[in-house]
Amino acid sequence: MRVLVVSTPVGALGSGRGGGVEVTAIGLVAGLLARGHQVAVLAAAGSVLAPSCAGAELLTAAGAPQPSWQHRPRSMPIEIPAGALLPRLWDRALEEQGRFDVLLNLAYDWLPFWLTRHTATPVAHLVSMGSVAEAMDEVIASVARWRPRRLAFHTAAQAADFALPAPVIVGNGFDPAAYAFADQAEPVLGWAGRIAPEKGLEDAAWVAQRLGLPLRVWGLREDEAYAAAVEASVPPGTLQWRGFLPTAAFQAELGACQVLLNTPKWNEAFGNVVVEAMACGVPVAAYARGGPGELVVEGENGALAPADDLEALARAVGRAARVSRHRCRQMFERHHSMAAFSERIEAWLEEVVG
Ligand code: UDP
Repeated sequence: MRVLVVSTPVGALGSGRGGGVEVTAIGLVAGLLARGHQVAVLAAAGSVLAPSCAGAELLTAAGAPQPSWQHRPRSMPIEIPAGALLPRLWDRALEEQGRFDVLLNLAYDWLPFWLTRHTATPVAHLVSMGSVAEAMDEVIASVARWRPRRLAFHTAAQAADFALPAPVIVGNGFDPAAYAFADQAEPVLGWAGRIAPEKGLEDAAWVAQRLGLPLRVWGLREDEAYAAAVEASVPPGTLQWRGFLPTAAFQAELGACQVLLNTPKWNEAFGNVVVEAMACGVPVAAYARGGPGELVVEGENGALAPADDLEALARAVGRAARVSRHRCRQMFERHHSMAAFSERIEAWLEEVVG
């Protein structure tokens, strides 16, 4: 297939602004290339493709970034700023559509979903979040009524927000070669993600101080005031801020953790960092909510606690620390490798194209 992957309008690939979508794009593109497909990526100007995606053509468009839906009220109307990148990306995608069998949209934005009925080349959408806004629910529901198989979701927990009878679930996928297995851990806990309220860093910080272990934190500081409030909520030294690192450096540090904490306050669609930790051999203690509640299997690759129950999460850390690190890596390779993911994506896109 000839596939045009249209990336997020929130930020350039490699900037971290696009959150998990950036890393998903790498696994998706590299995986499809490895299966012999012809892939082009249309992304924000300044985007850099990972070396594993070198076989893909990169097209770019410049413009004002799109605000993320998850930080706005549910009832917010659709917003497209002056000079916006989003319509420019889709102008270009429509100009180029004749060269492709399918356009694969990674953006959680109204415009590409609305366009679904009106393109000559079929558009398929990999939905990156659960329900966060009424206007998005409506446009996703209208695609679901017309062509439900044009939509794919990362987990069943995420898809449940949209109440489709039989949603396409594709999981996610990462390059096993990009994550080194680490047999030995230091006496530290880890947490990774965008530093933003929906990610619940404050709960992980509380658990770390409760257990008397430092918490290493990786990720983009999306909300400075929130980061400062979390820092102030625990004794100095509890949090070790490591900043936002490129995958190679991030995974090298991540492997040193005894356990990764994952504490989402929203219906996390997947939870890339959960699986990336497992790839390094790091078990995960998570809330039984959203994607992480589905990815973590008690006693196999980590431990679960009821959502928002801090004491239970502290106990889950103890159980997770006793899980075999080899088993974590094994489960990652079986279910969440780029190869397994791209097979699922290929089957889905073939159905869309066919
Ligand atoms: N990440 C990174 N460097 C860091 C911290 C995080 O590249 O220092 C990446 C991480 O690999 C993950 C993404 O940021 O793929 C966050 O994705 P996730 O699905 O966990 O959350 P999202 O940001 O999409 O809500």
